[in-house]
Amino acid sequence: MESMVRVRFAPSPTGYLHVGGARTALFNYLFARHHQGTMVLRIEDTDQKRFQKGAMDEIFQSLKWMRLDWDEGPDSKGEYGPYIQSERKEIYLKHADQLLSTGKAYQCFCTPERLAQLRQEQQDTKMKIGSGYDRHCLSLSPESIKQKLDSGTPYVIRLKIPELRTIEFEDLIRGKIVYQSDILDDFVLLKSDGFPTYHLANVIDDHYMKITHVMRGDEWIASTPRHILIYEAFGWEPPQFAHMPVILAQGGGKLSKRKGAVSVLDYKSAGYLPDALVNFLALLGWSPGQDREIMTREDLISLFDLKKVSPKASVFDEKKLEWMNGHYLRESSVDSLFDMVVEKWLEMGLFNNRSLLDESYCKTIIGLMKARSKRIHEIAESSVYFFRDPDKYEDKLAKKYFKVADLNVLKALVDKLERASSFGHESLESVFRGLAESENMSPGKLIHPARLAVSGVGHGPGLFELLETLGKETTIRRLNKAIEWVKNKEINQHGAS
Ligand code: GLU
Repeated sequence: MESMVRVRFAPSPTGYLHVGGARTALFNYLFARHHQGTMVLRIEDTDQKRFQKGAMDEIFQSLKWMRLDWDEGPDSKGEYGPYIQSERKEIYLKHADQLLSTGKAYQCFCTPERLAQLRQEQQDTKMKIGSGYDRHCLSLSPESIKQKLDSGTPYVIRLKIPELRTIEFEDLIRGKIVYQSDILDDFVLLKSDGFPTYHLANVIDDHYMKITHVMRGDEWIASTPRHILIYEAFGWEPPQFAHMPVILAQGGGKLSKRKGAVSVLDYKSAGYLPDALVNFLALLGWSPGQDREIMTREDLISLFDLKKVSPKASVFDEKKLEWMNGHYLRESSVDSLFDMVVEKWLEMGLFNNRSLLDESYCKTIIGLMKARSKRIHEIAESSVYFFRDPDKYEDKLAKKYFKVADLNVLKALVDKLERASSFGHESLESVFRGLAESENMSPGKLIHPARLAVSGVGHGPGLFELLETLGKETTIRRLNKAIEWVKNKEINQHGAS
């Protein structure tokens, strides 16, 4: 039996959760669920300078909206907590001390000014190998260390990098990766404010949280040899690593906010469905093969396989996301969309109060419009005419369909509709066809002007369903309004001569 899989998503609360981070969370989630393992959510907030209030909440909200649930984390149970790094300071301090006492790490009292000068000199001489910290404090005598400590000189703790070492690891996506230790300098483990660096906290937590697979974005790959050396210094077994491919913006370059990488919650408010976003993100770097695209969450979980994650960069194709969202909208039940569309209608000021809306009328509208929309907002925005008479008509279409010569036919239509005993779409269809036949014209000649008259636009659901939904009174009122509009236009155009 395979050993229990434990993975973690470890965001830093430095801003909103953007779609790249969400893809990392998703791959961890799919991997955990596929292996019936455990998903841990850990908040990495040791960089106090970059910490942003509210960011943690936004991370929770974003993950919850996408239904990427975790088994252990700050707000849920788990035996390896706390799951927020700032609450684990003691653990890091104790472990940094342990490395000091085993000689694997040392105190460094260099001032920021000295370090800046060192950096400048190295840049000036274009030094590459051996650049970084110059081990000035490695050779301090125990007496001088004691004296500095006694006088309260601030210090950091640095890892002593073993010389001339080859560091190798097998990346589950990229294969074997090899680094030489001489490109690494003695990096900081514990900062002078007593907080650990990302490297130290990350390794200690992954170890004590019993993480079996570290799956993270590929910008962290250069940190991995450092982490392996920390594991080694403690005498711990490192987990397995998988670095996920970069996501590129459509025009090239890394996906960034400027290039449209927006937060997960922005997609929510732009009218995307969480399942569509999840399906789309799953395919950024992974594919189950056979060109499969639309997959339920269950499919994603059962098919997900790290071996099929490509190391190549993938492109964030907004159009594809929109297309996918359209698919999910079509497949969604009216009931599941109802609250989201109503919320948008309220926001648009179509009615002041939710209690005023006619639920079954609204559901019919959503049912008619969902197949024609790519986003929730489109459903809401393109259905305004179900609530308000049009106050203008699409110009090009008005020129085409609202000719004076057509007035009589429109009037005849009103006449017929007034006498219609049923307003169901089938009877409406026979009224239109009957009239077209008796007038000896194609049904289109009636259908297009009628649509324009009742909706103001040239596209939408089938005309007969549309009229049935609007009902007899509204349909006739709007047809009459259009007839008046055509007459007035005529007077304005010719009356002046
Ligand atoms: N805190 C890091 C981040 O914000 C986590 C990197 C890792 O998963 O090791 O992405």
